[in-house]
Amino acid sequence: MELPVAFVGRVARDLGPEEGAALCAALDSVPPVSIRLNPAKCGDAVVLSQRLGAVGQVPWCADGWYLGARPQFTFDPAFHAGAYYVQEAASQFVGLLAGDLAGRRVLDLCAAPGGKTTLYASLAGPEGLVVANEIDRRRASVLADNVRKWGTGNVAVTACEPKALGELENWFDVVAVDAPCSGEGMFRKDPASRGEWSESSVRVCAARQDAILREAWRALKPGGRLIYSTCTFNRDEDEGSLERMLAWAGDEAAEAPVPEVGSEWGIVCGRVGAFRTYRFFPHRACGEGFFAAVACKDPELDARMRSPKARRTLFGQADKSAVAELGRWVQEPAAMRFAAIGDTFYGWPAAQADAVRTLSEVLPVICSGVAMGQLFKGRLKPDPALAFFAGLDRSAVPAAEFDPERAVDYLRKAEVRPDALAEGMNLICCEGRALGFAKRIGGRVNNLYPASLRILKSER
Ligand code: SAM
Repeated sequence: MELPVAFVGRVARDLGPEEGAALCAALDSVPPVSIRLNPAKCGDAVVLSQRLGAVGQVPWCADGWYLGARPQFTFDPAFHAGAYYVQEAASQFVGLLAGDLAGRRVLDLCAAPGGKTTLYASLAGPEGLVVANEIDRRRASVLADNVRKWGTGNVAVTACEPKALGELENWFDVVAVDAPCSGEGMFRKDPASRGEWSESSVRVCAARQDAILREAWRALKPGGRLIYSTCTFNRDEDEGSLERMLAWAGDEAAEAPVPEVGSEWGIVCGRVGAFRTYRFFPHRACGEGFFAAVACKDPELDARMRSPKARRTLFGQADKSAVAELGRWVQEPAAMRFAAIGDTFYGWPAAQADAVRTLSEVLPVICSGVAMGQLFKGRLKPDPALAFFAGLDRSAVPAAEFDPERAVDYLRKAEVRPDALAEGMNLICCEGRALGFAKRIGGRVNNLYPASLRILKSER
């Protein structure tokens, strides 16, 4: 499909005929393929990236790699184990703008399918918390699947209007708005997006961005950072959104410390008031079209953290024996808190457990922390999510190592032969990475891989 005529005309006017033509030519070239490794699961980064065909590192993200070609990720057990995320390179840049996230509370307001959420989760570490919100329920469930697979255990997924999150006033150290936009930066990677673009969709997106930024600002605490990003080149949705925001928030915005940006990276750096801006053009930088900006909320502002009144009590206490059994399954039980929601027990990083409880009392939380499973006669029947948790204590359950072919059969939820499995519950692994559980009862095996996650594609 051709590029929209109005788009071609606009970029020629904005960038000049030569650079406009270079951008349009790049949008018709082959997009680079990139991934981001999961530091908690990838093992030796060089070994895994080489197996995937890495040809170089993404310069602005320590865990980002370019691949020479697109492997069939669907048939790679390491992909299903959450050892990496297939993420466009330019969008990995937001990690640099976030600063030191260790132990911080992050709100990712427009989060599905979870590329940036999983990046923030790795950076926030076991003491931090990422609240990942997605307004669209169906997309929120994909986000929740990706978060579980990433296995950091420090994410809570919500599916709300941004207004509901804005009511958690001054709560977050970092608020990220990866705004729904007209998607001009995706014209290469997703040619169908060319047909969806129109000048009126730009206006609708800009108005939506204004509304989201208002809620994002309410949720940000003084001294905290706002990261605004889009995958469009459109000024009205990029600099324009920031200008409109500064018209009402200008006094409260301050400059954030910014990272060094290598001139060879090809990023176009700029400024809108207190915001530093970064634009990725595919004819200059190795990635898709992307725009990112960062500013702080004035640290001197006198603002109190406020949350709405609790609407429900969800958490049931885990008694001593439950805590002992649950603690047996994790590497650092003392650093976790456990509680029951309905008949399922969950674990959260102790440092953020109270925050998750407050959140769960005021908002519909789809999933949070680690779903540990259910207790029967004092013994844990593990939830599939526990297999993905990077903090799982492997001594709690025997591991059965499968070769990649057998692992793919397991992931298809096909019948599992009993050989190599111990009697009872087993953790199914490939290259040492956990994929899920299976239970052997004599000569029979129950494949406990979740049906919703199974591989459906038959052709290799
Ligand atoms: N951050 C995601 C990632 O890195 O994988 C991509 C987010 S995508 C650019 C924008 C998201 O905003 C979409 O998932 C979309 O459903 C959501 N969205 C759409 N309308 C919205 C609204 N009015 N408020 C908040 N989010 C909205």
